[in-house]
Amino acid sequence: MQSFVYQALSQRVVFGFGTLTTIGDELKGLGLSRALVLSTPQQRDSANALAEQLGDLAVGIYDRATMHTPVEVTEDAMAMVRSLGADSVVSLGGGSTTGLGKAIALRTDLPQIVVPTSYAGSEATPILGETENGIKATKRDNKILPEVIVYDVDLTLTLPASMTVTSGMNAIAHAVEALYTQDRNPIISMLAQQGIEALVRALPAIHADSNDREGRSDALFGAWACGTCLGAVGMALHHKLCHVLGGSFDLPHAETHTVILPHATAHNERAVADLLAPVAKALGADSAGGGLWDFAKGLDAPMTLAEIGMEEADLDRAADLACANPYWNPQPMVRDEIRQLLDDAFWGRRPGAERQK
Ligand code: NAD
Repeated sequence: MQSFVYQALSQRVVFGFGTLTTIGDELKGLGLSRALVLSTPQQRDSANALAEQLGDLAVGIYDRATMHTPVEVTEDAMAMVRSLGADSVVSLGGGSTTGLGKAIALRTDLPQIVVPTSYAGSEATPILGETENGIKATKRDNKILPEVIVYDVDLTLTLPASMTVTSGMNAIAHAVEALYTQDRNPIISMLAQQGIEALVRALPAIHADSNDREGRSDALFGAWACGTCLGAVGMALHHKLCHVLGGSFDLPHAETHTVILPHATAHNERAVADLLAPVAKALGADSAGGGLWDFAKGLDAPMTLAEIGMEEADLDRAADLACANPYWNPQPMVRDEIRQLLDDAFWGRRPGAERQK
């Protein structure tokens, strides 16, 4: 057993079916009575229904949450927070909506209740990635960590099949990197394994039937477990690459994680195959990287950077950006190897396969 330091985060978690009805009591429990409900434009109807359910406890809805948390959107929402005298935010949606709530909390220290409807896991972390002038910068602050998470499995039944798969792969990515990160510890490694196993069970079940309630419950539990890993320990190469590709090339978040994960995992498997063995085992595969690639392909996930909007001409700049301020990584981040990894991901080659365009 290697020595370790583990800092637990303080957060209240309510998990189940139909838990949306508890949000009024959660607000009252925190002494709050003027909540601003946040959503994306696509989830405005759900936000309306929640605001109606909350009655006088909700003072309004801001529905322009946007991926990668652009600072100008946060400033627009901040004007509403001030004009309505909101004393809290209730973020209903995926990571984009959670990100907006966190950005408001960072500026105001207002309490947040998050109702996650995807598997991104942001609700369980004190981390915020904000984008300004094409650069995504990550901040870590206790003000960013939401006070309460209300997981209502019912709300995930509408998550489209394709996004269920990519969002689930996004969650798995947090747990994979938690297994080998520099500050890994036994509690988080156990949670990482549980999260991966739950999602490996759940995603094929939901892929076959998006109304599979047990699968949906497993997947949301897995998302919480994997998100908790992301909040508790540092990440490495995989998250660095996705951060660069999302922030500087505006690639979609969950899809980018899905395409990159098998390649980043295979790259690091050269150094820490022992730490990645639980991933291969959960997948019933010989290797973690190859197993993740096969798993994603079997779920009809996007497999190439090309199909999610990357230009081949930008791969050099992406490799440069990734290596400019590299995260700690178990396998050294050599620029030419990272450029090759991006090429493999661009064309969607299976890790370890012969390279031919
Ligand atoms: P998202 O929140 O943008 O959601 C994608 C789309 O799906 C949106 O239109 C959303 O309204 C819709 N949607 C979500 N749940 C739905 C449901 N149940 N039914 C129908 N539609 C639904 O995407 P995401 O992948 O969840 O989040 C990505 C964002 O989260 C990125 O900005 C990323 O940086 C951030 N993130 C941050 C952290 C962190 O710890 N800071 C962790 C993970 C992700």
